[in-house]
Amino acid sequence: MHRLYIETVGCQMNVLDSELVVAALRQRGYELTSDPQSADTILFNTCSVREHAEHKTYSSVGRFKYGKRKNPELVIGVIGCMAQKDQQQIFEKAPHVDLVVGTGQLGEIPDLVDEVRRTRKKQLAVSLGRKAGSRNEVAASFESYDPLRDPTMRPSPWQAFVRIMIGCDKFCTYCVVPTTRGPEQSRLPSEIHREVQALSHQGVKEITLLGQTVNSYKVVENGRQHRLSDLIGLIHETPGIERIKFVTNFPKDMTNDLLFALRDLPKCARYLHVPLQHGCNEQLKKMKRGYTVEDYREMMSRIREILPDCAVSSDFIVGFCGETDEAFQCSLEAVREFRFKNSFIFKYSPRPGTKAFDLYADDVPEDVKKARNNELLRVQNEISEEDNAGFIGRRVEVLVEGPSKKAQALLADAPTAADSGTARADGMDDGQALPGWHAGAEPVSYPQSHPAPADLVSLTAPTIPSQAPAGADPMDSAQKDTHPNPTAVQNLSSPASENVHPGNAISGNTAPGTGPLQLVGRTKCDRIVVFSGNPRLAGTLAEIEIDDVTQTTLLGNIVTRQVQAGSHTLLPIMV
Ligand code: SF4
Repeated sequence: MHRLYIETVGCQMNVLDSELVVAALRQRGYELTSDPQSADTILFNTCSVREHAEHKTYSSVGRFKYGKRKNPELVIGVIGCMAQKDQQQIFEKAPHVDLVVGTGQLGEIPDLVDEVRRTRKKQLAVSLGRKAGSRNEVAASFESYDPLRDPTMRPSPWQAFVRIMIGCDKFCTYCVVPTTRGPEQSRLPSEIHREVQALSHQGVKEITLLGQTVNSYKVVENGRQHRLSDLIGLIHETPGIERIKFVTNFPKDMTNDLLFALRDLPKCARYLHVPLQHGCNEQLKKMKRGYTVEDYREMMSRIREILPDCAVSSDFIVGFCGETDEAFQCSLEAVREFRFKNSFIFKYSPRPGTKAFDLYADDVPEDVKKARNNELLRVQNEISEEDNAGFIGRRVEVLVEGPSKKAQALLADAPTAADSGTARADGMDDGQALPGWHAGAEPVSYPQSHPAPADLVSLTAPTIPSQAPAGADPMDSAQKDTHPNPTAVQNLSSPASENVHPGNAISGNTAPGTGPLQLVGRTKCDRIVVFSGNPRLAGTLAEIEIDDVTQTTLLGNIVTRQVQAGSHTLLPIMV
């Protein structure tokens, strides 16, 4: 039997791509391993968005140079965005690589690996360049949809990504994505719906729809045009699916029909990631983003009006070409004005093949980029912490994702991403989930402001008559119920054992798997919540009372049991 080791860096698209590649190779009898030394096939799924990510990939690939010398049967492949961008160059820089496969050819990997084994010849499979043919020809060369899924490769069994479109036609001047992912193409709603139904049958509760500019989704099927709002309306009715999210949004394509869909469809998260990128119009123009700060403000006011309870997050680039101190101040102002839930901040990294690389000097010194990055992050963190503090003393409903990474580490037999054979070398998985635990944190006084109402649950939740049959293991029946109806919440007084502070729950005093653990969940507004509880709550909705916060995390205690309304099954809070 062949053994596969795969390392993934980059965005959610890459995480999903790795899931599909693993599923395809498993069908050929491959077994996944987290130990590269025991693998006979090693794949690197790569990112080209920043130079740093590429350097890291080359250094990771370099680690296997001598292993390949000792074992010439080893097959080493570089796949994904960097493969599409650098193509033949990868063989030149790393001659021990056997296989270079772009984002549009990932489905061919099993055959290409076989071909390497059979012929011992290098294999290169990439799509056409954006100017190497007509739009249709180029688009066809990138077509790579999602025939197979592999649950073990997901961040959690309850959550799955679903690609609804590929590529991008916006051509922001700093970005390689239109080159590495090709022209924008939307999948048919019927195909997406079938995939969501299949995922629901596998136990998935939360679907995140993926697209580089997901709200640009547009496709004609059966003579009718479908927008993202139509697609969400379709998959919203899938039994078993309890939450629907979508990333990443493009500001100019944020239409009211989509905002109304979010308002009217209760399974939709009240969360939008809409990157502003910069607070200065001159910089936005240079980036060719196609909107001004005034346009963004207009969009935000529509979001606030239609969805007053919606959290919004953003991306920012600091140190882009020609960014003056005054221009940077505009980004600080924008963060203060729009009060994002959080922002992902990136130092500009010039990328060959982009317009900015050809046209503009990368003229902001590295130390200035770093200082601006830190300053913007500091202001954003202050705002995030202030807004999070508005949740103290309130109750939120979370979808429980499972034990925190720290808790998982205490469970010797708990599967982790690494155990399942994938490594996120950049920490871009749920890396923001558990920053800095609040053990040892200084107490801070907060203004009690800005809770997003969608995160708050009613303090007078309905009481639902429910009892598990005597002697039955309530979790058994709950887990067998593949499609429980949306859960209802029943208030109960918390037993003393539930008041284990999250910080204590991973003390290691509890035998692995036998007591409350530090768990992680997310609110409907995508806020991360950490609390202690029974790990078997993973995949259910729970009500948490918040007693402390950090910049990125709400911390609290579980206060309710959950009742599966359909099965009348009582879920235990603690062991
Ligand atoms: S919208 Fe701009 S930044 Fe986003 S993927 Fe497309 S080109 Fe890149």
